[in-house]
Amino acid sequence: MSYKSDIEIAQSTPMLPIEEVARGAGIDGKYLEFYGRAKAKIDYVNLLKDSPRPDGKLVLVTAITPTPAGEGKTTTTVGLADGLRKIGKNAMVALREPSLGPVFGVKGGAAGGGYAQVVPMEDINLHFTGDFHAIGAANNLLAAMLDNHIQQGNALDIDTRRVIWRRCVDMNDRQLRSIVCGLGGKPNGVPREDGFDITVASEVMAVFCLASGIDDLKSRLARIIVAYSRSGAPVTAGDLHAQGAMAALLVEALKPNLVQTLEHTPAFIHGGPFANIAHGCNSVMATRLALKMGDYAITEAGFGADLGAEKFLDIKCRFAGLKPAAVVIVATVRALKHHGGVAKAALNDENLPALEKGLPNLLQHVENITKVYRLPAVVAINRFPTDSEAELKLIADKCRELGVNVALSEVWGKGGDGGVELAKEVVRLCELPNDFAYAYDLDMTIEQKLDAIVKKIYRGDGVVLTANARKQMRQLEELGFGNMPICMAKTQYSFSDDPTLLGAPRGFEVTVRNLKVSAGAGFIVALTGEIMTMPGLPKVPAAERIDVDSDGKISGLF
Ligand code: ADP
Ligand code: MG
Repeated sequence: MSYKSDIEIAQSTPMLPIEEVARGAGIDGKYLEFYGRAKAKIDYVNLLKDSPRPDGKLVLVTAITPTPAGEGKTTTTVGLADGLRKIGKNAMVALREPSLGPVFGVKGGAAGGGYAQVVPMEDINLHFTGDFHAIGAANNLLAAMLDNHIQQGNALDIDTRRVIWRRCVDMNDRQLRSIVCGLGGKPNGVPREDGFDITVASEVMAVFCLASGIDDLKSRLARIIVAYSRSGAPVTAGDLHAQGAMAALLVEALKPNLVQTLEHTPAFIHGGPFANIAHGCNSVMATRLALKMGDYAITEAGFGADLGAEKFLDIKCRFAGLKPAAVVIVATVRALKHHGGVAKAALNDENLPALEKGLPNLLQHVENITKVYRLPAVVAINRFPTDSEAELKLIADKCRELGVNVALSEVWGKGGDGGVELAKEVVRLCELPNDFAYAYDLDMTIEQKLDAIVKKIYRGDGVVLTANARKQMRQLEELGFGNMPICMAKTQYSFSDDPTLLGAPRGFEVTVRNLKVSAGAGFIVALTGEIMTMPGLPKVPAAERIDVDSDGKISGLF
């Protein structure tokens, strides 16, 4: 049996004019700034001021420890919202904007899949409303002002060997990872080693996504540390007087983008920070809008629940004062078999013993959500065409046996109709009492916070700090950053820091090699291994398959 590709489905489904979608979301045309017929930015300042209604329920979609292909969080987020609309609920979606890097690299777009997508998927995946370009420009303005300051006499006594601010571009371009710049003699700058990050890895992106408004955006930008002086003092964007101009570049971008799902459910797609060195979820502004206008706001956090949900709950919800009402944990037959030890080539073959062997991974994620964070949770089994009935039944039976809520999700194949069972369960969970708690308190020491995450969430024996990380920890505490939450940068393929330890490993320690502060974003990044902030393209990039015909119709995106 052959299936239509995501882009074929998207292009053959008619869209509503965006003002009609907005009307369905209770948003009057006067708050819309149009980007063509199917996209608009929202004047959130006035809309939030003028909307007295109470916030809706926040539902987080997360997943078990994934395979490299992704287990369908975005697809489930979209399909769940469509499913809720099918049963008469006023649901909205809040998602990240895709980065061009993965679109042209390996993973492809990030607009859902099958009959659960957001559209226009070509636009969403390519440039969209230009937010990432604005973020890149703000990042690079700061870089230019920094190097200019050094060139013009360096009044702040910046140590050119300790400039940490990098330029950025939204592309997978490994050639720019490490460069030498400022060559060409006296009029052409001060030569130094430098490098580019992909735009989504810029701290400006994290700041943008955590900002609660323009004033907060400006004060966060001002706190960004760009370098250290020769005496070791941090030099900030505020010291360079850059925050005002950076915010001016970002002010339009800060307005959330409205699009629609294939079934015309309103979707706010806004911001897209990396899920490793940053917190990996859409902007606070978009979540706020979805909550303000919807009775149910469905949102996604990147990677598995040990990373994405942990940061969503411990960083974003804490900063923004958000309280989720329920959590959906996406599981797939293929990922469970993968955790049960099945090789990639055999993942499509029925294998009940391996499936059962993989279940502890799922159960640990469920327990983390229900016992550590004390939130109601449901497992959504994201049905793939290759799953057997016996496999689907086994997961559902085992979950029920253990008292875990579970629903089959067929949104990829059927759209909202395939999400009705899940939607009903989510509605039920949202009415349950919920005493949401964080995994750690901010006034604990950095080491205690790291240890809490490793023990409570990963179920390891504890954290180990290298001598280097220990030195950095002392410096961060001396500089007054000890009370910030932790942003873990760890492999998404294991609960541990070793990507080959599948399932629910025990008896491991997690080694933190590097600790650095993102003072603007407001968290401490703990790096457990090498984290690539500028990815490269694979041998055969997805870009080679992407094309556009003489009518302007794009093909090859997925
Ligand atoms: P995530 O957000 O977890 O990374 P996505 O929702 O982006 O995952 O899905 C990853 C890929 O898997 C997409 O290409 C999507 O079309 C595909 N996919 C998701 N769910 C299914 C399914 N049930 N059957 C087949 N393909 C699916
Ligand atoms: Mg996704």
